[in-house]
Amino acid sequence: MKPAILVTNDDGIHSEGLEALAAALAEVGEVTVVAPDRERSAVSHALTLHRPLRINKLRAGWYAVEGTPTDCVYLATRSLLKARPALVASGINKGSNLGDDIHYSGTVSAAFEGTVLGIPSIAVSMIGRGPYHWETAATFAARLCQRVLDEKLPGDTLLNVNVPNVPPAEITGVAITKMGKRHYGDAVIENVDPRGRKYYWIGGTELDAEDIPGSDCNAVLEKKISLTPLHLDLTNFAAMDRLAGWKLS
Ligand code: MN
Repeated sequence: MKPAILVTNDDGIHSEGLEALAAALAEVGEVTVVAPDRERSAVSHALTLHRPLRINKLRAGWYAVEGTPTDCVYLATRSLLKARPALVASGINKGSNLGDDIHYSGTVSAAFEGTVLGIPSIAVSMIGRGPYHWETAATFAARLCQRVLDEKLPGDTLLNVNVPNVPPAEITGVAITKMGKRHYGDAVIENVDPRGRKYYWIGGTELDAEDIPGSDCNAVLEKKISLTPLHLDLTNFAAMDRLAGWKLS
């Protein structure tokens, strides 16, 4: 029997990236798609606690949830799916999730949620703005998922994948990377609406990234697929000794 794979995203159930990922992973396992009913990018790891959630079945194996990516993984694994999936795959996101993006990303958080539950999980994103070469990321995701199912993953670890937006033949390799650092432009736009009220719009333009050898940002600049293992434990162990020296007790 083929392994059960849960596919989700944060761009919403109608995203072409989700369609491409589900189609590619159908070669690897039995895919069920449970995704937000609309775009929920940058909602991070939000879980909806203060209102009921409805699940709408759109077609066989495709479910739209009135909630966040984390809601989707939560509901799918605890209620909707008969058995626990062997793998959670999130994406393919429209736009990168490199360096600091990871903290805001709904795409990566869905994979974090799978990891919290002890299910091997991956997040897949394409660099830049469309039109996208979905086949580049989809083909790699299928190959990677097969390897994850065969080899398993270390505990509390998920894989964050970023794919350059080029045809498959132009990819120069796969790099195992660490989180880089990105730079953003003016982070808040201030303007006046037609009724004279001020408004603010968050969303700095992406400028460039720090040149850090071995980072996810550097890898994609070199047209390599970036594969970053991320750990659930965010503890800064080196800082523990320093804090102990503060003599707080
Ligand atoms: Mn997104």
